[in-house]
Amino acid sequence: MSAIDADTAAPVLKASDYKSDVKPVWCPGCGDFSVLSAITKALAELGIPPHEAVVASGIGCSSRIPAYTTVYGFHSVHGRALPVASGIKLARPELTVLAAGGDGDGFSIGGNHFIHACRRNVDMTYIVMDNAVYGMTKGQASPTTEPDWTASKLTPDGPGISAFQPLEMALSAGAQFIARGFTANPNTLAHLICQAIRHPGFSLVQVLSPCITYRPEQRAYKNRVHQHFGHPEPATDRREAFARLMDDDGFSLGVLYKGSQPVYQPAPAPSATPEEVAAQFAIC
Ligand code: SF4
Repeated sequence: MSAIDADTAAPVLKASDYKSDVKPVWCPGCGDFSVLSAITKALAELGIPPHEAVVASGIGCSSRIPAYTTVYGFHSVHGRALPVASGIKLARPELTVLAAGGDGDGFSIGGNHFIHACRRNVDMTYIVMDNAVYGMTKGQASPTTEPDWTASKLTPDGPGISAFQPLEMALSAGAQFIARGFTANPNTLAHLICQAIRHPGFSLVQVLSPCITYRPEQRAYKNRVHQHFGHPEPATDRREAFARLMDDDGFSLGVLYKGSQPVYQPAPAPSATPEEVAAQFAIC
């Protein structure tokens, strides 16, 4: 049972308050465990009660994450985490809305939604567990796979096409908070997710989340990551952010960009009653 805050009489929330009884079916050592831990730590740190938060996801290993939390969840269809999350936020603006999933889900079948979610700038946070592979369907190349990755039987000579660049795409399309994290330290990742949730508008956190089953070489990410995109403070100017990305090797961690474009506000609700709206669509 949670302790009680002496000043507010509200329960003091802990990360464990956000973890459901459902045991994750991820492979032991999968990076997604760390992301789950970071999300629960972030929500606890921000003091957001479970009934005031939602996680929407698509399909894939990482998209199972809503079931592993105690917040509201919507495990939707492939590539559709962002439209679902947008709809939830517009209908229930008081909720803290997260969308979560993998690189295949978000940047391939969901790529169109990703671009338009960035430009629409609804206030929500998109956490992409990027392992550059389709893990759930046994290791095909994904949009972020390197062109010379030859371990998949489906692409024995490598995909041969340039990898999708999520941060460049997000910056081009209008995302207002763009960051990259790594799964090695859930506390550091939780801090990044806290910043993303606090920032008004559409926030992207790309998390380098190793798939130890189909990309075991990703264990070496810990030797490649480095901090800050070369700068201790995030860029607030898009040109500066693009310049930093031109020097990015894909392993810079931290907040790349913080913008200040207005958050999307839905049009006022129509004044017609539900009965009047129904009458307009009635078949004569
Ligand atoms: Fe994680 Fe890869 Fe296993 Fe999927 S297949 S649970 S991404 S380690």
